[in-house]
Amino acid sequence: MASELTIKLHNTLTRTKEVFAPLDAKNVRMYVCGPTVYDFAHIGNARPAIVFDVLFRLLRHAYGADHVTYARNLTDVDDKINARAARDFPGLPLNEAIRRVTEKTAAQYQKDTIALGCLEPNVQPRATDHIEGMQTLITKLIASQHAYEAAGVGEVLFDVGSMPDYGKLSGRDLDNNLAGARVEVDAHKKNPADFVLWKASTPEEPGWDSPWGRGRPGWHIECSAMSERYLGQVFDIHGGGLDLIFPHHENEIAQSRCAHGTHAMANVWMHNGFLQVEGQKMSKSLGNFYSIHQLLETEDFGGRQWPGEVLRLGLLMTHYREPIDFTVKRLEEAETKLRDWQRAASAAKGTGTPDASVIEALSDDLSFHRASVAIDVIARKANRGVETAVECLAATLDFFGFSKDSLLADTGDVDAARIDALVNERLEAFKAKDFAKADAIRAALLTEGIQLMDGKNEAGERVTKWEIKR
Ligand code: AMP
Ligand code: ZN
Repeated sequence: MASELTIKLHNTLTRTKEVFAPLDAKNVRMYVCGPTVYDFAHIGNARPAIVFDVLFRLLRHAYGADHVTYARNLTDVDDKINARAARDFPGLPLNEAIRRVTEKTAAQYQKDTIALGCLEPNVQPRATDHIEGMQTLITKLIASQHAYEAAGVGEVLFDVGSMPDYGKLSGRDLDNNLAGARVEVDAHKKNPADFVLWKASTPEEPGWDSPWGRGRPGWHIECSAMSERYLGQVFDIHGGGLDLIFPHHENEIAQSRCAHGTHAMANVWMHNGFLQVEGQKMSKSLGNFYSIHQLLETEDFGGRQWPGEVLRLGLLMTHYREPIDFTVKRLEEAETKLRDWQRAASAAKGTGTPDASVIEALSDDLSFHRASVAIDVIARKANRGVETAVECLAATLDFFGFSKDSLLADTGDVDAARIDALVNERLEAFKAKDFAKADAIRAALLTEGIQLMDGKNEAGERVTKWEIKR
């Protein structure tokens, strides 16, 4: 099925917004670099998970849910993991300690992304399950003289000088990279920009047998092997955060293209902007580092817990390529907005379909801003009692991964049925022209913190909505 929808995406490789044309509309393929599982994922890591989830949803809408393959990996081989394992489980053999660290963090990541309203990707490969594929790639690279074994240090290095257009994604000039390079430290390299494909492990470190001795893979080769395994040698979209453009994605491209002799690894490269917290780079030492888990479950940020959907909307409110300043104010705005939408959608029976103008807005390089303006338009119609708008709004929220009433149910000890009954009693009082009673009910509810809002439906009848004043 070809898509009726024209989707435009900004491609880092060409630095332009392009009309998206999949290699195979029956199997649209996307790979996103997932987290290194040595610690709980932070709110910055949530951004690519959410941004590419929205793209996944858009592609499924355009091409059909069965015609999109989304792979998001878990990096579970990394020196940061080894260090964390040794620190947290000093009494255990390192391999066992590593397993404890990665299993715990991977399980938490799974829970976090689901709480953030993300669909599960079709595949979530782990590096440790794909060592053989990495070794095959390295063997190919050595055979085609794109890689070499560095004598005496137990490393296999990629030879950047063997690839004439190395650096195209990041726009880095190899000659400039050379300037100021630490030549002494890199004495075993042909070129200081050469990077590790395989490195030797000490007996204590995790390692796998290989033609180059017992060792472990470099970070970049992990994604080249896993993307090939699930998406093929050339696929449609590759995503991740801006920080990955260089060296990670540049080096993935070098490895995959040189190993397979292809002109591209992925046709479209997409990168989300960075997130900072209250105007500062997030870091543990500044005390402004928040894990997703912490935001969901503790009162560390702004003195309260935040629902996953509010975090999701809070991150989507800024275009994915722009930087985000993550603040309490942003989350409060997101919560108010989502509650407004839900109030307008909550009566839906589930018979609607997502709004075409919202989908169209999103198709313009994921313009969530335009999409949200279009959602506001439907919400206004729904608030006027237009039933098709109520249904369409609920379906549109569902399309984005939002429920139609999750925040409304979150009314603490407020008894919604009792309030609804009082609201109806007040409507009856109006009909009977007993305005004193109507006013008394309004006043009584207000003392409980319940605000009533009167309006009219299309038939000109009075309708009353209520909200909890915070
Ligand atoms: P890492 O575990 O650091 O490799 O990161 C996993 C994903 O999160 C990658 O796509 C990173 O680019 C992305 N990422 C990390 N930190 C941030 C941040 N502060 N803002 C936005 N994205 C980030
Ligand atoms: Zn990667």
